[in-house]
Amino acid sequence: MVTVPRLEARITRSLLERIGSASNAEYVVTQAWSGGRPNECFEAVEGRVAAEGGRALAGWALWKGELLIEAEYYCVWVDEGGRKFDIAQRELAFDRILFVPDDRSHGTGLQVNNLRLNLGSNPVVDYLIEAYDCVFLLENAGERAKESSLSLDGMEAALHHYFTMLKGKLELYAYRGASPDSPCFCGSRKPFHSCHQDDICKAIAKVHALVP
Ligand SMILES: [Zn+2]
Repeated sequence: MVTVPRLEARITRSLLERIGSASNAEYVVTQAWSGGRPNECFEAVEGRVAAEGGRALAGWALWKGELLIEAEYYCVWVDEGGRKFDIAQRELAFDRILFVPDDRSHGTGLQVNNLRLNLGSNPVVDYLIEAYDCVFLLENAGERAKESSLSLDGMEAALHHYFTMLKGKLELYAYRGASPDSPCFCGSRKPFHSCHQDDICKAIAKVHALVP
């Protein structure tokens, strides 16, 4: 289940440090606005500014799951009086979100990857984070982020497929509490560390070599 992390928690502090914004994090009241598509915070804020004035404030929304804490590049609306509101429509309703302003990537037209930290010390979760990052890199590296449809060639397409599938498998595997000593997710009955771990490391290295 996804929750809003506590500002004072140590892991929240670590993630904020990683983000490295010059601004302080704060809770922002949620007040969904009917004028935007669900989950499209930038679009909703743009619509609201056009309709009622105020301004957009880009930054990061922080979310905590069972396995990791993550920061999503996000946008809130600031009304004429300077009050901040989270106005995106979401399936999960929260009274407030944890938000840190950061306009360094705003207006570049590029997609911004989520930043994720392992909530525990299970290396399987680290591999899961790597899998998310590899999918993002293959889809959004450089100018690719501005293209409307994804066109990957042979090796990249194969790696994209590999990590998309892996992501799902590792999520399930990690949620069940598997560690590297557990029987591998592939069903081989060998422990993960002497089965798929090596394969995953090689694939990660390939992505980083292709998409620096
Ligand atoms: Zn395996």
